[in-house]
Amino acid sequence: MRTKLLTMDDSYIREFDAIVLESKDNYVILDKTGFYPESGGQPSDTGFLNGIKVLQVTKKDEIKHILEKNEFKENDIVHGTIDWDKRYKHCRMHSAQHLLSAIVFDKYNAVSVGNQLGYDKSRIDLHPFKPDKEILDDITKDFNNLIDKALEVTIRNVKREEMMKVISERNSMIFNKLPKSIEEVRVIEIKDFDKIPCAGTHVKNTREIGYINILSTENKGKDITRLTFELK
Ligand SMILES: [Zn+2]
Repeated sequence: MRTKLLTMDDSYIREFDAIVLESKDNYVILDKTGFYPESGGQPSDTGFLNGIKVLQVTKKDEIKHILEKNEFKENDIVHGTIDWDKRYKHCRMHSAQHLLSAIVFDKYNAVSVGNQLGYDKSRIDLHPFKPDKEILDDITKDFNNLIDKALEVTIRNVKREEMMKVISERNSMIFNKLPKSIEEVRVIEIKDFDKIPCAGTHVKNTREIGYINILSTENKGKDITRLTFELK
């Protein structure tokens, strides 16, 4: 991967300058980017490169900025601006998802088996989980308490070997899923509450997330329940 991801160090980055390494069809590859590429259930950022609309940013073998029209050539210097409203909502949603997963695991022993974050609402699939109204009210209360506590959220990079000592016990199974090629792990810490490896963008304090409203639950079969939520 030729592109340095600036969001790994700064979830609040809104602008950056970069050099075009490759320009082809409808996309460019840059030496670095402040755009978050679609991954891990978090949608891509959108925004502009020198006034040209960035429709989507994808991450497969390379990080590609998909453009409305591509007028760039190799070695051009570009200025990127991120749609901050959308990014910040995704930061809030992603931190919310970490809180929710941890609460449900601790209290109801259900594991998060999938999630899709969005702008208006997000969803999380939990297994095994069959909540009634009382349980949903209880989760909402616990979640909102963590918002009121205004816990600091920090990011740090640790060596693969150190990760097990650093992360919360509830997240230890993640280590087995970590590809062997990854030598350094980025850990998101919600102070005195949760530590988990994650490459997404996050708020700096839980008070920024806002209160949760669980909109619906859906039985997905095989003891999986999908919770859909919004933030107020
Ligand atoms: Zn995450």
